[in-house]
Amino acid sequence: MPKKPKKILKNILKNFKNRYFRRRFILFIFCAIFLIAILYGGFKIASNLSANAARREYENKIFGTLQEKSAEITEFYTYGTHFQISGTLDAISADNFENAKLVLVSENTEKEFAIEGNVQDNKLMFSSAGLINSGINLDELGIDTYYLKLRLKLNNSTEPKYYTLVNSSSYPNIEYYTVTKNGKNNKVKIDFTEYQTIEEKNLSCLKIQVEEATLPDNVYDIVIDAGHGGKDSGVKAGGYEEKNITLDISKILKTELEQRGYKVKLTRDDENTEDFTATNMYDENGRIDIACKSEAKLMISLHINDGSSKMSGLEVYAPCKSDLTLARTMANKLIENTYIEFSNNTSFKETDGVYVKNFNANMIKDAEETAKEKNYEPYPLTEDTPYLYTIREVGGIATNAYVDGRNTAYAKNVHYNSNQGIECYQIEMGYIDTDLQKIIEEEEGYAYSIAEAIAEAWK
Ligand SMILES: [Zn+2]
Repeated sequence: MPKKPKKILKNILKNFKNRYFRRRFILFIFCAIFLIAILYGGFKIASNLSANAARREYENKIFGTLQEKSAEITEFYTYGTHFQISGTLDAISADNFENAKLVLVSENTEKEFAIEGNVQDNKLMFSSAGLINSGINLDELGIDTYYLKLRLKLNNSTEPKYYTLVNSSSYPNIEYYTVTKNGKNNKVKIDFTEYQTIEEKNLSCLKIQVEEATLPDNVYDIVIDAGHGGKDSGVKAGGYEEKNITLDISKILKTELEQRGYKVKLTRDDENTEDFTATNMYDENGRIDIACKSEAKLMISLHINDGSSKMSGLEVYAPCKSDLTLARTMANKLIENTYIEFSNNTSFKETDGVYVKNFNANMIKDAEETAKEKNYEPYPLTEDTPYLYTIREVGGIATNAYVDGRNTAYAKNVHYNSNQGIECYQIEMGYIDTDLQKIIEEEEGYAYSIAEAIAEAWK
């Protein structure tokens, strides 16, 4: 012990024998403790007050003047990199709503998203977009905590009205990983949850939390599906089989995409290709199951068309009700960089090289007859249901996937009712009879063109 304190202690002990000193000393200690307690308490109250004020300000910014009722969300899903919701709001008359928007608000930002809506029986039915691959782009959200609200501006008031969103569907919350950029990913947690305000009021609301994340091993950016495989050879000509050409090009495409920084999964490679048949796509570890388990944002399925029709050229098949920009970019780049030309097929054609093939009335009738023959309840097909099973069955509820096992010729697609869909394109690279030579010579050109189109869409 240093000299000085030692001396003080010695003095205190010596003086302690003195009654007056003893009283004064004890009083001093009491006063000191009392003063410290007062200061500490004051500091606590002040910091609590400022924390409460900050929280009130935050809640005011996020929730503002909410209406008592909430909008009910009847469906929500991710498709590719986008998030969509649709729902209803009661007691709205047809002529008194305008400027309805979804508002995504955080402490630092506020973004508006257009909705499509109409009023029926005093009920507003709304949807975040008419096209399944548009709406809220999850890859464009910065790291933050957001809440999504519905905003209406009623004609008879100048102030907009805000409504929180509650989940009235049976679909679960969503965990989404953004596309890999510069080796980095964000995790986006989309949760219907409760927020407890400072006044201890519980608000049911939709929270979107974006945070930095490491991509889990089983999650990919892109899945490439080499058409056919194993016992299913696909179309054949001149000693060539579709299954082998599509696998060759898929492998080159994987390398091209990996060079651009993406994490890529093949539905089949040399290891599992012999397991494939024409009917096991929905089995566990069939191509649809492998694709869905990859949680990829994008799927490219490569095929070659049947030559018997004497047609020629490239056809890129896109999902129904989708923005066709990526499909068009892929078609245009393929024409630019290879000898292949746009297809001369006019059925289901949208623009040069771009096709959307849905069930039409005749196909629905055929499907109903098949169901009758095989003795199962027909699937609920509409003219918005994609005809190509790869596009349809990896998209979940966004593309009306439906294979639920009632047709016993196939296993059940366990992902058919998923609210996390993969945006899928099927590329018919040409017709086997007329275009075989071009396809074989241009394997690298096909892979390069598709990879360039994807990189451009995601830049
Ligand atoms: Zn094929």
